[in-house]
Amino acid sequence: MKTIGVIGAGQMGAGIAQVSAQAGYHVLLSDVDLARAEAGKAGIAKALDRLVTKEKIAAEARDAALALIEPVAGVETMGPCGLVIEAATEREEIKRAIFGTVGKVLGAEAILASNTSSIPITRLAQASPDPARFMGVHFFNPVPVMGLIELIRGLATSDATVASVEAFGQSLGKTIVHANDAPGFIVNRVLMPMINEACFALGEGVATMQDIDTACMLGLNHPMGPLTLADFIGLDTCLEITRVLFEGTGDPKFRPAPLLVKYVEAGWYGRKVQRGFYDYSGSEPVPTR
Ligand code: NAD
Repeated sequence: MKTIGVIGAGQMGAGIAQVSAQAGYHVLLSDVDLARAEAGKAGIAKALDRLVTKEKIAAEARDAALALIEPVAGVETMGPCGLVIEAATEREEIKRAIFGTVGKVLGAEAILASNTSSIPITRLAQASPDPARFMGVHFFNPVPVMGLIELIRGLATSDATVASVEAFGQSLGKTIVHANDAPGFIVNRVLMPMINEACFALGEGVATMQDIDTACMLGLNHPMGPLTLADFIGLDTCLEITRVLFEGTGDPKFRPAPLLVKYVEAGWYGRKVQRGFYDYSGSEPVPTR
C-alpha cells in the first residue's frame, strides 16, 4: 500500500495527505479540479514550513514529504492505489458520485474508505465497488496534531479490510479505536450532546457564554470550553451532526438547541466566518451575547 489516494484536498484531505506523506506514502491528491488539488498541496507546504521554523521537523523531511504528494486532476489515475480515502464535502450525493467514478479504476484488492463525520457507513458502502472493502476512517481536525482515528465497519466490511486500514493508521502514529456504524460513532456521540447542552444552558440564561466556557475548562479540565470548541468545529457542522444523532436514534435527548439553530440560520458559523458564539474580527474573541 505504498501509493494511496486522497479525494478532497480541503482541511481534512490536506491533513491526511500531509501525515501520510510524512509517514513515507506516495499520495495522489485530487479535488474537483487540478487547481484545487494544487491549492491543497500549497497549504500543506505552508504547514510543513511552520514545522521547520518551529524546529519540529528538518527541512529535508519537509522536502521529502512534499515530493511524495502528487496533485492530480481526477481520480482516474488512482488505479495503483491500495487504499483510497475520500475526504470530500459532507454531502451524500457527492460521496456516492465519487465512489462510482473511482470504483471503475480501483484494483480488485484496493480498499476505499470514507472520512465522513456522520453519514452511515453501511449506506455509503452501497455506492462503493465492494462493500467488503469499504469502511469509515474518521480522522480529527487538525489531522497532523490530533492523535486519534476512529475506524467504523459497515455491515459487510471484511476483517481483512479492518486489519489493513488499522495497520495503515498505526503507521501514521495514530491511536486507533473501533466503533460500530451508529450515529456519531464515539467521539461525536459524546461530544455533540455536551456542546448542544451548553447551547441550551446559554439560551436558558443559566450563565454567560464566558462562564459556561470557563466552568467547563476549569471544572472538567478541558483545554477549551464547549462554545469555543463549537466555534472551532463550525456551528453548521455541529448542528448537522446533532441532527444526524437526533434522526438516527429517534431519541429526543439529541434534539438541537434552538439557540444553535438560530446562530446557524444567522450564518454565524464560527471561526471560519469570524463570528459564531464569539466574534473573531478583533485581536481577542468577544462574546456575541
Ligand atoms: P472542506 O470543505 O475543507 O474540504 C472538502 C473538499 O472536498 C473541498 O476542497 C472540495 O472542493 C472537495 N470536493 C467537493 N466535491 C468534490 C468532488 N466531487 N471530488 C473531489 N473533491 C471534492 O471540508 P473538510 O472539513 O475537509 O471535510 C471533509 C470531510 O471530512 C467531510 O466528510 C467531513 O465530514 C469530514 N470531517 C471533517 C472534520 C472537521 O473537523 N472539519 C473532522 C472529521 C471529519
